[in-house]
Amino acid sequence: MTTAGKVIVCKAAVAWEPNKPVKIEEIEVAPPQADEVRIKIVATAVCHSDLYYLLESMNKDGFPTVLGHEAAGIVESVGEGVTEFQPGDKVIPVFLPQCGECRFCKSPKTNQCETAWTLIRRDLMVSVQSRLSCNGKRLHQFAGTSTFSEYTVVHQTALAKIDPTAPLDKVCLIGCGISTGYGAAVNTAKVEPERIIAVDINADKFEKAKVFGATDFVNPKDHNKPINQVLADMTNGGVDYSIECTGKVEVMRSALESCVGSWGVSVIVGWTDLYDVAFRSSQLVTGRTWKGSLFGGFKGKHGVPGMVKAYQDKKLKLDEFITHKMTLDQVNDAIDLMKQCKCIRTVLTVCQE
Ligand SMILES: [Zn+2]
Ligand SMILES: [Zn+2]
Repeated sequence: MTTAGKVIVCKAAVAWEPNKPVKIEEIEVAPPQADEVRIKIVATAVCHSDLYYLLESMNKDGFPTVLGHEAAGIVESVGEGVTEFQPGDKVIPVFLPQCGECRFCKSPKTNQCETAWTLIRRDLMVSVQSRLSCNGKRLHQFAGTSTFSEYTVVHQTALAKIDPTAPLDKVCLIGCGISTGYGAAVNTAKVEPERIIAVDINADKFEKAKVFGATDFVNPKDHNKPINQVLADMTNGGVDYSIECTGKVEVMRSALESCVGSWGVSVIVGWTDLYDVAFRSSQLVTGRTWKGSLFGGFKGKHGVPGMVKAYQDKKLKLDEFITHKMTLDQVNDAIDLMKQCKCIRTVLTVCQE
């Protein structure tokens, strides 16, 4: 029996308030309206941005919500005017929409989309519209995606169609983390193949970093001088490229100071709206470049299928990134693992294909 045009009652993890465990609830997912697509989520990973929203943003106006933005699924039905997608298509939701029409979308210089911000309330990181509700209460749609749910409705500009043979429990990672990190290095910093120094205060991550190509490992806790000096000593004055992935302002400054004056490029990937970062103008005047990278500089719709192909062609590693597999019911366990830095990625099985 087709579900198209009808409300779907299904399971989702609802975050009722900040700093509390999320709760598995029965929710109602309304049919997609014009330009929208309803999808069945097959797999979703837990990303640090979900935790940031739940634990750190403290934005009470953004609750209740359904978190989750790194997922893959199958189109269930489409709203009026949608021609790009059909029921049965395999898809990855993208939190950074691409309308294809605006001056940003038409420019090769950016992956931002002007219309994205008419669809998303930037201050709350949620969609202006939401088709999700629970006990008659409207649920905010986190990042325009809300993938900790068996079904969700996304705008057609926030969805990428992928190869139908791609394994959804793996390629879901391309919806955020993998594209963000890979793109920050390749698209934004434009690194060349060379020595790669992994810096982390969690030494448990070094074995994994080696799998992904790191050649050197530095734990700032092992040194009694600032990390930028440690790196300068190791590299004859500073690294060519540094990429910050913590969202901590003191790390952002260290990353800038770690790259060599004259030509060093430092890229900020971590997101924070809570604090300002300080620096000295001389650090930039002497030739360093400081950049930021959102979603690795990839245009959502166009970048995602290419990354899926790179995985299928064995040019991109994903399997090695997944340290835990669970089901949607275990989402609080997955959140705890990430909170305690005991995982790289947990993939939650949501629906069967
Ligand atoms: Zn993310
Ligand atoms: Zn656009």
